[in-house]
Amino acid sequence: MCERDLYETPISGIMLTVFGSVAFDTIRTPTKVLKNVLGGAATFASISASFFVKPGLIAVIGKDFPEEYHKILSKRLDLKGLSIKDGKTFRYSGVYDKTLSSRKTLRTDLNVLKNFKPTVPDKYKKSEFVYLANNDPEQNTALIKEFDNVKFSMCDTIDFWISTKRSAVIKMFKQVDAVVINDEEARLLTKEFNLIKCAKKIMDFGTKYVIIKKGEHGSLLFFEDLIFSSAAVSLENVVDPTGAGDSFAGAMMGYLASKKKTDLASIKKSVVFGNVMGSFAVEGYGTDGLLRVKKLDIKKRIALYEKMTSF
Ligand code: AMP
Repeated sequence: MCERDLYETPISGIMLTVFGSVAFDTIRTPTKVLKNVLGGAATFASISASFFVKPGLIAVIGKDFPEEYHKILSKRLDLKGLSIKDGKTFRYSGVYDKTLSSRKTLRTDLNVLKNFKPTVPDKYKKSEFVYLANNDPEQNTALIKEFDNVKFSMCDTIDFWISTKRSAVIKMFKQVDAVVINDEEARLLTKEFNLIKCAKKIMDFGTKYVIIKKGEHGSLLFFEDLIFSSAAVSLENVVDPTGAGDSFAGAMMGYLASKKKTDLASIKKSVVFGNVMGSFAVEGYGTDGLLRVKKLDIKKRIALYEKMTSF
């Protein structure tokens, strides 16, 4: 990877739109319990992407969403697509085991997310890159059809949607170029254990690229017969993995949108940025890890990543 690939100044305009959940998260980690902190798949993904481009965010929040959280988002994102509805913001609650490698969902309260009818603001319609973060698959599928000029789209999902709307998840996969999914969810969805078999089944649903995230063990990118394996950044101090997957995906999309590229070599590079941005997310609680990142930190960590992975 050469220097000019590492990081460039964000370009203006809505090149990338992110749609998905903005949430209050309650997370139990072995070292801290976080209550109603800023979370949500679209939150992590769009903040991560904002280091590469200025993303447009489409999401819904309730009237209980505090000014303080709104400010965090408005500093980094275009919020024309953020709807404020009567009612409560989406809430998610989960607990990690002591190794921080497995998370159990305790509660999912859809609140204003339920029956939300998202629309795409005119100024986002020409977005060439669209990321459908974890969200109701029916809403995701309806929304992607509203864009005029998509060059690369990607989506994610989570156990909740696989268990409650499996066929809608599969329908959503047909509409996008890439699916990013974690290993446990890929197994749950496909009922296969081997990840290559999982990826093949997901590609058979109708998507070209599949990226299976394996937490601290990195990720696998699948395209036709190719498997590109990449390591996670090895870290000594991990405190809260929430949002790592979303940050990974947001970085991929942000990188690709900043380069306006969708070729395989660029997608491989975007996965490296995904690993790097995901590594910042796990070092802080909630969004803290991402929010304290500076451009220079990204450069340094890419350099570290190169050292860790080249031989
Ligand atoms: P990750 O750790 O990358 O899997 O993402 C966790 C984030 O996803 C949390 O901040 C949650 O608010 C959000 N989330 C959890 N469950 C759902 C769901 N069913 N739909 C949308 N977002 C969710």
